[in-house]
Amino acid sequence: MRNKIVAGNWKMNKTLEEGKILASEVVNMAADEAPSDVTVIMGTPAIHMDAVGKLVKDAANVAIAAQDCSAHEAGAYTGEISVSQIKSVGAKYVILGHSERREYHNESNELLAAKVDTALAADLKPIFCCGEALETREQGDDVAYKFVCDQLTASLFHLSAEVMTNFIIAYEPIWAIGTGKTASAEQAQLMHAEIRKHIAAKYGQEVADSVSILYGGSCKPSNANEIFAGADVDGGLIGGASLASRDFIDIVKSF
Ligand code: PEP
Repeated sequence: MRNKIVAGNWKMNKTLEEGKILASEVVNMAADEAPSDVTVIMGTPAIHMDAVGKLVKDAANVAIAAQDCSAHEAGAYTGEISVSQIKSVGAKYVILGHSERREYHNESNELLAAKVDTALAADLKPIFCCGEALETREQGDDVAYKFVCDQLTASLFHLSAEVMTNFIIAYEPIWAIGTGKTASAEQAQLMHAEIRKHIAAKYGQEVADSVSILYGGSCKPSNANEIFAGADVDGGLIGGASLASRDFIDIVKSF
């Protein structure tokens, strides 16, 4: 059975104090309300990770993620954060390849392959983002499927089947991120099925069936249930709606 995951991406929001309040609310609500088979993750800004790491330390079902990591292990890389630094504050996950990193920081598929390797070598689990821009989608569904599958091939398909087992991928159509425009449940399911088929063609059906594929893009309490009902949708990566504990936990409860 695949892992069900709802991961928040706080992006560059919340002061430290605000973040600690949000994180404690999420931890308390998750303890009382989250289904026991769902892993709840908070992708906090780096500056929050130490404090939030302490808050989630004893929580059975809540973990923290970094929003990025350096491809380098350590050294003279001003402003960067290493995987060992991320691990040292208790994070288990790292979001990689978010479209905002790809667009504003020119992160290429090749750089992301290196970041994936660095994260895995440190035993940090990537939540690997992929997704097409509006102009790609407008060229047709098949063009969008190919674009996303090519992103995965370029950054992940050097990995062994063992490493790909239980991997986490987040499909996030760029045209749905922060726009209020959600992919329909059908569009999400169709893309997720294509992604799983693509992984199966390379690694076999058993590995493909173990990969958790999350949907991200204007997911909120009012649409999460319909989206998560897709046979190949294993949860969500949540931006805006992860900034309010009630909304976030309502999404967690949407399976
Ligand atoms: C995201 O950026 O990962 C995201 C899904 O954002 P939003 O939910 O705000 O569209």
